[in-house]
Parts: sequence; structure tokens; C-alpha cells
Amino acid sequence: MNVELLIPAKFGCPHDYALTPQDMQKLAKADVLIINGLGMEEFLGAPVKKANSSLKIIDSSSGIKDILNFSDIGKKEHSDEHHIAVNPHLFASPRMAALLAINIAGGLSGIDPPGAEIYSANAHAYAEKMNKLADNFSALGKRLKNNRIITQHGVFDYLARDTGLRVVAVVQQHAGQEPSAAEMLKIVKTIRNEDAKAIFTEPQYPKKIGLTIAKEAGIATEILDPVATGTENASLDYYETVMRRNLKILEKTLNE
Ligand SMILES: [Zn+2]
Repeated sequence: MNVELLIPAKFGCPHDYALTPQDMQKLAKADVLIINGLGMEEFLGAPVKKANSSLKIIDSSSGIKDILNFSDIGKKEHSDEHHIAVNPHLFASPRMAALLAINIAGGLSGIDPPGAEIYSANAHAYAEKMNKLADNFSALGKRLKNNRIITQHGVFDYLARDTGLRVVAVVQQHAGQEPSAAEMLKIVKTIRNEDAKAIFTEPQYPKKIGLTIAKEAGIATEILDPVATGTENASLDYYETVMRRNLKILEKTLNE
């Protein structure tokens, strides 16, 4: 089996992604496309069918329960019915990553029945590892002095749920879109009212606005990596390694 990334490893969340001619060539050659689902891949659709009508798509989030909606913060922007309010960022949570792995194995088994046993065994071994990691996050949550945080965009809502953190505000209500001065002031006010402890920015977006807000509110700021990006040929333990680093950063920042 030959595995390739459709979107460059350095790209990040594909919120405003558009398929390139190179992507179309990759799709034309592929047998299977694994997607996140839940509306994350809005760029897929008719062009994909045109590029490869026999392409099989595995939706790794299909059937997963307890899906979160984007928090009530910024609800107005999501209230028109064309906008999907579900939060698709399952991948930034080890608890959800366990389910994604099992879903992917199920999809592959349907397409390639002779491999079913090995897909299932590998996925269950990985899921067990992810669930143990998620247990570490929830154990940390119980030790924290202050569990109230601000994030860059909605990417950490599932990890926050794993850990028992409360996201009281987000810097970018729409991913990639910077807040206005009035919105920034509102965030500072929320930080004070909620006695929030820290702002977590992401390596995938500029951190300047987050730093400005943190300075204004007089709270800590750190970088958490949702693993929306990675190295081109990432090692198999890359996700786990980055998540363990996040665990340490959360502990250090929120327990200070
Ligand atoms: Zn995102």
C-alpha cells in the first residue's frame, strides 16, 4: 500500500483550501481517499468525482457520537443555515484519534477484505495507545489549579474536553480571520470576567494577536500544536510525541 498526503504536510487545517491541479492528479491515481469529514473538506465535491469516478472515500469521522458544536462564542456567525455548526477538529484529541483509527481500519477492511485482520489489529493497538494518552490528559485536568483557557481557533475543543478544560474565548472565530479591535477588547473582558489563565496560540497561525491580547489582559501565553501540520515524512509516533509535548505545556502553563 502506498500512502500519500493529498494536502501538503505544512498546510494546516484546510478551512479555505482549493484543490490544485497536482491534487487532481493524485486523486486520479488513487484507489482510496481518507477524509476527516464533518465538513472539514469543503473543497472536495464534483471535481473529485470528475478526476476519478471510481475513487472510494473513507470518512474517518462517520458514526462518531458526541460531536461538539462550535462554542456559543461567535454563535451568530454560525446561525445561518448554510453554515455547519459542528466542530470537525476531531484529530486534535487522542480520545477521538482512537475512534478515527478504528473507523479507517473498518473502511480499509471493506475495500480490501484480505487485509481486514491486520487493519483491525493495528488500529486497536493504536487506539489503546491513544486512549492511554487521553487518560493522561484527563488526569492532568484533575490536577490543574485553573482550567480556563483561550485558544486561537476551535481546533482544541475536543482536546479541552479530554482534559476537562473550559475554552472561554477563541481569538479567531473564523479560522484564519483576525479579530477586530472591538472583538479583541471583548476577549480581554472575558478573560478578566472568567479569570482565565492563558492563551494558547498554534504554530499554524501567526501568534501576534494572541500575544497582544495576553499582554493586555496580563495572562500567560504558550503555543499548543494541534498536529494539523507535520513533517513531510513524519515518524509513526509523531502525533503521540507532539501530544505529549502539549501535555507538558498545559501542565506548566496552567499550574504556575
Ligand atoms: Zn481548523
